[in-house]
Amino acid sequence: MNWTIEEFPIKELATGETLKLKTYTVKGSEGPHIHIQASVHGAELQGNAVILQLMDLINQTQIRGSITFIPLANPYATNNKHGTYTYGRYNPVTGHNWNRNFVDIINVSKFDLIGFVENNIHLPWHELKIVYKSELDQIFRNYFDKLIETRALSENNKLNLMLQHLASKADGILDLHTGPTATRYLYAAEYEAEVSHYLKFKYNLIIPNEYAGSMDESAFMPWVHLMNKLKAQGREIIPDIESFTLEFGSEETFRMDEAAKDVESIVNYLRYKGVLEGMPDKIDSHSCLLENYKTIFSPKGGLVDYHFEPGQKFNKGDTLASFYNLKNIDPNDPIESSRSAVKAEQDGIIINRCPSSSVHQGMELYQVMTKLSEHKV
Ligand SMILES: [Zn+2]
Repeated sequence: MNWTIEEFPIKELATGETLKLKTYTVKGSEGPHIHIQASVHGAELQGNAVILQLMDLINQTQIRGSITFIPLANPYATNNKHGTYTYGRYNPVTGHNWNRNFVDIINVSKFDLIGFVENNIHLPWHELKIVYKSELDQIFRNYFDKLIETRALSENNKLNLMLQHLASKADGILDLHTGPTATRYLYAAEYEAEVSHYLKFKYNLIIPNEYAGSMDESAFMPWVHLMNKLKAQGREIIPDIESFTLEFGSEETFRMDEAAKDVESIVNYLRYKGVLEGMPDKIDSHSCLLENYKTIFSPKGGLVDYHFEPGQKFNKGDTLASFYNLKNIDPNDPIESSRSAVKAEQDGIIINRCPSSSVHQGMELYQVMTKLSEHKV
């Protein structure tokens, strides 16, 4: 296979070294372009194992279209070690979550989308896509130039804009993450919910076609805006451009044996997109609307014995965790006197849990899906 390797400088450090994004692109015959990145959050490593497996697999086959891989999408976060732990979720300088600083480029650039739609509404969809992508390329370039000119290119937006700009050329964007201690699950927007089944995740979180700061949203928002403006002009199209966040288990974990299975979901999506040969299939899965994705905050402080692990179902009334308050021990009955229970208020499935058994009141204990709908193949 013929690979093109490129480097993009993203940050000059205090010591003078420059951190760079490195991209690996493989091209086949004419076809869709796919953008796959991992480790926007520095402690989320499993996506890199998946990327290695996928690159290896692609070397042994023919592809249609092209794929760009960005294994270490946020080198600064990857290098941010505190002891043995990777402090990779938040920018240590600003405190911001690295996956909440992307922009809704059509809005921030004040692009005249109504004018664009009026001028191009007559085009067939495959041509309209090409013209729109070329507009997006120019929009990103102009927006970058404006930020540089006005000295407004901050700690938080250079990397994010570069990733968005690269992703804006794609017909499928896969942002590989993990949870803290988590099962495997997927974020999909409403308009791409049907297609999301080709990624073969057992648990799918359906988010609105709206912007809330994350990479997947920033990559689909230009197409959602276009879809909405076309609809207002009487042309109904569901864009065949998708952007998903794939959650591959727990952070600080890198397992090549599990990645050999994880990669199957992306391979199946690539079949659906026509990039790889073969018939895509689907599996039975569960979906949950974002409004039913609940965080259970810790009702008290203490040491926690978790009774449920990610991926497990629970019922209303089950004891999800036992808390032990060591400031409240009756030495004659040490276990009972210090223990209290956190009970489930409704049925659901554990998706994430706090990796630590030492928690303050108000910390995120579990994230759970409730009111799930089942999809049978
Ligand atoms: Zn993440």
